[in-house]
This record gives sequence, structure tokens and C-alpha cells, in this order.
Amino acid sequence: MSVEPLLEVTHLSKSFRVHGQTLQAVRDVSFTLAAGETLGLVGESGSGKSTLGRSLLWLLPPETGDVRFAGERLRTLSKQALRSRRKDMQIVFQDPVSALNPRANVFRNIEEPLLVHRMGTARERRQEVARLLSQVGLQEAHGLAYPFELSGGQQQRVMIARALALQPKLVVCDEMLSALDMSVQTQMMALLQQLQQEHHLAYVFISHNLSAVGYLSSHIAVMYLGKIVEYAPTEQLVASPVHPYTATLFQSILHIPESKAARSALTTLPGEIPSPVKVPMGCAFHTRCPHVQDVCRTQEPPSIQVAQGHFVACHLAKGDFA
Ligand code: SF4
Repeated sequence: MSVEPLLEVTHLSKSFRVHGQTLQAVRDVSFTLAAGETLGLVGESGSGKSTLGRSLLWLLPPETGDVRFAGERLRTLSKQALRSRRKDMQIVFQDPVSALNPRANVFRNIEEPLLVHRMGTARERRQEVARLLSQVGLQEAHGLAYPFELSGGQQQRVMIARALALQPKLVVCDEMLSALDMSVQTQMMALLQQLQQEHHLAYVFISHNLSAVGYLSSHIAVMYLGKIVEYAPTEQLVASPVHPYTATLFQSILHIPESKAARSALTTLPGEIPSPVKVPMGCAFHTRCPHVQDVCRTQEPPSIQVAQGHFVACHLAKGDFA
């Protein structure tokens, strides 16, 4: 029996006008995500990960393509229906300082989504915020603190509590670990796993930290210049990457989740990612690819399946790699 995915993304594209030019941030992206699973999104800065994360939630509505959430096409929803549906789809940003209201205490910050959606009485909301604080490992007394009085890890816990307040089914985690030190990152990963098990949450986990992505994700999508160039179950992708870009990113992963080399892999790729305003013709990776062929400069490779659930967009994907 096939299970209907919680999230189904088909041919999603999003661009922006920048100084009279078109910046192609996300290009023809398709994937599915089941309830209780995690999709890791990796790629260098400028690969379109964060734009994709926001487009999934319709915070940045895509020009073309569809997002189906729990069977509903977000494109067809009225503003009111979309607002109501957003209760099920939350996002945790990289920088809690700018995401939290500095003039409100922690209690009020977590309570705010409940107030916006007119949920519960004042007493019920108080109880709910206390429960959420405890669930993310904070004390009730933290509710009286202001965001600036908390550590980075505590602020990110508040963000998670706030995201959970509406009991979502999907949480997009956008570089939420990158400002935290290693020991706090490890605590946050454990917390995300625990919450996923308790609530059957689905995550889209966007990160530069390949170790964290490998540790948390059931599937990984590798993005390059707005496209998913490889998608596979995590173990398969880490053990047998096919796309030359993925292979370069993951070549240093020796252990998940503790490899320092893996954490720096994204910064050791030779050359720079081209501007999304001028996406190269053919395969967008051809300007940096060690395996480039003539065909790569003129024809965009289709995404083909090379193993069960493993998709690759590369002209050499049938097995000509050395
Ligand atoms: Fe490299 Fe060509 Fe494959 Fe692109 S299509 S990744 S340039 S071999």
C-alpha cells in the first residue's frame, strides 16, 4: 500500500528581478516528503536552498510548479485558507535574535502564534507555553526572560517551542544550527530527533553542515544553482554519490556526525558557484566539473534514476565514472 506524501513538490521554480536582471533562485525542483521523515537540503551559498524552503511554505510563492501539502494544492487556496494551513507548516530561521520580538519576554514570544490564530483561553495558553518550554528543555522561569538574556542555544530552543506551538506537521529548519557551537548543535540535533519521534514531524533541514544533514536526514537533496542535481536515501547518497558535485561535497565524510572534514567540505570545492543571474548553458556545473564533456556545455542533463529512489542529473550518470 503506497502512503500519500505529506509534501509533494512538482516542477517548482522561483526567480527574482534584481537590477533589471532575472535571478533564477530555484529551477524546476520536484520531490516528495512523507510524515515523520527528514529531507536534508545541501549546497553552497547561492544554491537556492533557503528560497526553496520559503517557497515550500508559500512565504515566497513560486511562479511555476506546485506544492501539495496533505493533499491540498497551496496555489489554489484563498489567503484565509492558506493562513489557516500555515499552522501546519512552520519555519525555524538561522538567527533567532532577529526572528524573536526583543521587546516581548520568552513567554509572550511563544504565545504569539496562539494569539494570532485565536487558540485557547489565557489560562490554556499559559499552560501550553509552560509545556512547550519543558518540551524543548527550558525551565518555566525562562518564560520571564527576554531574548537578549538567553544564550544562542536557549534562543534557538525558544524558536523551536514557538514553531511547535501550533502543532505543525512540517518544520523547515533553515540553517538553524549554524550560529551555535558544536556542543549546542549536538543537543539541538538530539532535540529535533526526539520531537520528531514524539510528534511524527516532517523536517526539511537546510544546512551547510553535512555531518548534521547526514545524521538527521532520511533523504538528501543536493542543490546546485537552483536545481536538485542528486537525490537519494541518505546512506545511499553518502556511500555512493554519483554526481561529481555531490562526490566532491561528500568525499571528506568519514564519520557521521563527527567529521570535521565533512563540516568544511562545502568550503573546499574549487572555483566559485556562478551567479544565478547568469546560469551557464547546458549543465550548470560544467564550469567546475572535472568530468566535463562537450555535451555538458550545450545540453542540460535530465534527472535519471540510477538506483531505487536515487536520482541524478548528469550526462555520465549511467556509470562512466572512474
Ligand atoms: Fe559534469 Fe557533465 Fe555531469 Fe555536468 S553533466 S556534472 S558537467 S559530467
